[in-house]
Amino acid sequence: MTVHVLPIAAPSSAGHCAERPILQERGQREVFCGLTGIIWMHRKIQDAFFLVVGSRTCAHLVQSAAGVMIFAEPRFATAIIDERDLAGLADANDELDRVVNRLLARRPEIKLLFLVGSCPSEVIKLDLSRAAVRLSQVHAGNVRILNYSGSGIETTFTQGEDACIASIVPELPHATHDQSSLLVVGALADVVEDQFARLFADLGIKTVHFLPPRTSEQLPPVGANTKFLLAQPFLNDTARALEERGATHLPAPFPLGADGTAAWLKVAADAFGIRREHYAATIAPAQKRARAALEPHRFRLSGKRIFFFPDSQLEVPLARFLYSELGVDLVEVGTPYLHKRHLGHDLDALPLSARVVEGQDVDKQLDRCRADKPDLVVCGLGLANPLEAEGFATKWSIELLFSPVQGFEQAADLAELFSRPLVRRTRLEV
Ligand code: SF4
Repeated sequence: MTVHVLPIAAPSSAGHCAERPILQERGQREVFCGLTGIIWMHRKIQDAFFLVVGSRTCAHLVQSAAGVMIFAEPRFATAIIDERDLAGLADANDELDRVVNRLLARRPEIKLLFLVGSCPSEVIKLDLSRAAVRLSQVHAGNVRILNYSGSGIETTFTQGEDACIASIVPELPHATHDQSSLLVVGALADVVEDQFARLFADLGIKTVHFLPPRTSEQLPPVGANTKFLLAQPFLNDTARALEERGATHLPAPFPLGADGTAAWLKVAADAFGIRREHYAATIAPAQKRARAALEPHRFRLSGKRIFFFPDSQLEVPLARFLYSELGVDLVEVGTPYLHKRHLGHDLDALPLSARVVEGQDVDKQLDRCRADKPDLVVCGLGLANPLEAEGFATKWSIELLFSPVQGFEQAADLAELFSRPLVRRTRLEV
């Protein structure tokens, strides 16, 4: 089998982006809503609490997705707003205030409270941004209260993280000194964050912050001398909010796999004037280890045909990793939204033979998938079970958000998430 090891170049007008046909679909979609992001965001920000203002459906979604333990003091909950007419709105606001006051009195360790909107019509009528301002005044000095929407209307589940982080941006302190700093944006597992912090320090980038921070007391400063790297590809609103604060986006491939991580770090190294030789010597041992760890997965995955349904917005960088580092044959790469400004590097590295689709028309896509007969389908939970029943091997895309997958040390774990379902199916067939 041929292995493609492609350099990840800067996107240019001569790149594939310009000439690649992109199929746009605007039909029925099969995705989770933005409330799902609470599951990994509450683990990341350790003194935050997420109060969903929603219906019983929202409560069920969050609880079953998070698998709440009965004795745990969870850091999320749902204030259930029942159906009521406009005349009942004042009561709903009073009720919300009462719930928040009771919660904060009982849980003094909460320092950052997110009021998370949802899509039931009775919730849409409530103005949660005004509620956040009103409650912030009451609890000033003890807890910061922010709001964002996790609604399932016109979103996909990773937009919950984007909306959450974007709501934090106005709270970030102004960078006061002239020293330039690097801001890494996107929720990363702590272990991954620590590895990147060490690599940036070894490279010689002195001031590095991460957003979201681990606690609300560690809000990173932002200003005209802040350069930011996205660690996740779905942070459009957050990126815009940071640019409005004067920060500069560093366009880069995403740090997935040995080569993706190296290319991501290179963009930061170049932006901070790190010498090429020093960069190469700093990353070489970890990149070499990561490439070696990928070898057994390359053996299993090379030549396998993969079909992505649009779900996590990680599809394009994942497809780049699978194609260029593992020799996977990309049949279709569906993604809910295609932000070319953020995805240009990864998109340019995909072969022109891969069908790239933005948006979804799920029935048409299922027909294409059945006709293509891929070896592995990457999709949301709602499609995985029926496709398994039809004989397809599947991978739940949501798992990619729950697992540490970025960086050199995680490259093999990321590859294993794709090779495992194929190995399992081979065993079942024996
Ligand atoms: S926000 Fe909307 S889509 Fe999400 S669980 Fe609640 S009702 Fe369902």
